[in-house]
Amino acid sequence: MSERTPVAILGAGLTGLSAAIELGERSVRHRIFERLAKPGGHAVTIEDNGFRFDRTGHLLHLKSDALRAQVLDWIGPDHVQVQRRSVIWSNGVYTRYPFQANTFGLPPAVAYECLNGFIAAHFAEHKPAPRNFEEYCLQHFGEGISKHFMLPYNARLWGVHPKEITSDWCQRFVPLPRLEDVLAGAVGLNDRELGYNANFIYPRLGMGELAEGMARLVPHLELERSPRSIDLARRKLIFEHEEVEFDVLLSSIPLPVLLRLIDELPEPVQAAAAKLRCSHLDYLDVALRRTAGRDFHWAYVPEAKYPFYRVGQYSQFSPALAPPGRSSLYVELASRDRPDIDRVLPLVAHGLVEMGLIDAPDDIEFVRARRIDFAYVIFDHQYFAALSVIRPFLEQARILSTGRYGGWNYSAMEDAISFGKNAAEKALALRRS
Ligand SMILES: Cc1cc2nc3c(=O)[nH]c(=O)nc-3n(C[C@H](O)[C@H](O)[C@H](O)COP(=O)(O)OP(=O)(O)OC[C@H]3O[C@@H](n4cnc5c(N)ncnc54)[C@H](O)[C@@H]3O)c2cc1C
Repeated sequence: MSERTPVAILGAGLTGLSAAIELGERSVRHRIFERLAKPGGHAVTIEDNGFRFDRTGHLLHLKSDALRAQVLDWIGPDHVQVQRRSVIWSNGVYTRYPFQANTFGLPPAVAYECLNGFIAAHFAEHKPAPRNFEEYCLQHFGEGISKHFMLPYNARLWGVHPKEITSDWCQRFVPLPRLEDVLAGAVGLNDRELGYNANFIYPRLGMGELAEGMARLVPHLELERSPRSIDLARRKLIFEHEEVEFDVLLSSIPLPVLLRLIDELPEPVQAAAAKLRCSHLDYLDVALRRTAGRDFHWAYVPEAKYPFYRVGQYSQFSPALAPPGRSSLYVELASRDRPDIDRVLPLVAHGLVEMGLIDAPDDIEFVRARRIDFAYVIFDHQYFAALSVIRPFLEQARILSTGRYGGWNYSAMEDAISFGKNAAEKALALRRS
């Protein structure tokens, strides 16, 4: 049994680190525990044979000036500012992102179907509230764009049919183009970058540099420490060889993991927890012996004939991520089954050849298959009902569960930093109350 801590933080991804920094600045005593040997969570960089790989594409979009200054301070001067080069690969051609506003270059019959459908949807008189993401797409983009991009791409990204997803998650992330943009984009006139992420900041040596910079301000971080259980009645984290009493628990670990740790979880909360769904993601880090044949940052791939739905190029974010004369890719696989590399790699290589990234499979120096257990929280039709049981329970137990997976949402790194800071402020208020 050790000394009681006012605030215990679980998880040292960006949310947990940000909370610890905020509490430190306010001189609030706290402890922070991370399961892994390294901080950063999803925002880490892995060194491997001279290459540096993030956990697929991680690019910083910073809307707030204050946050931007703070993040640049943590990263330091060794960063690059990049203008997005993202494309769609479909029907054997590249088009610009977003698909819905850039149909120029597609086969004429496909472009016509997209344009015609968009115009019909735009001028439709009857627009009932969409009941799911499929209806949202049909209503906002029309039949053609939905069929050729929105529905197949999103089914591959989320791992479930868009009918199973509510439309609430997407307002911020799916750009809704104006009619003028769609018309201009159909004839190749669009030179305006659409969407929330047209510019980004990237640490030259990989996104892990951000967490490293933050972790330098949290020297008391306890790595490879994960509680066996949480005794809520006695407000204790139970570790293998220690019990840590806390006033407030600030958790950034995935919500289902947190709930599983709690002893004697009430039955309705257990039932709600069983309804939380999140997709996992299997992806390949691919090291090439040569520079790749295209210079895009990432490409969306909606067609089912390819085993991947997105391919990105780490070494286009920053050439320092690959040795001179080489390059590196991430390939996000559409199947949710554990990949059989011997079977999937030839299909992936074939796709990369078609996309003009490599000339032949021999251009691949090595491949690593990696998995992200918690990738995308699924906003299905049980989502809000489940959270309406779980959130009040946590609140009355004075547990602040926050972050992308702690808060069970779809959000970005800049949000994680804000979530952590806000939760630290709430923890302070709870302690005083
Ligand atoms: C494929 C993918 C691509 C993305 N791309 C971008 C992008 O381009 N731009 C962007 O801004 N955002 C992107 N994101 C989102 C971004 O990764 C997250 O918003 C952010 O990293 C979340 O940070 P977090 O601290 O909330 O969670 P996490 O990073 O998940 O951190 C949680 C921490 O808790 C630890 N933990 C888990 N269980 C325990 C336990 N029992 N005890 C102690 N510790 C535990 C974990 O090891 C981890 O370190 C992407 C996410 C994914 C999945």
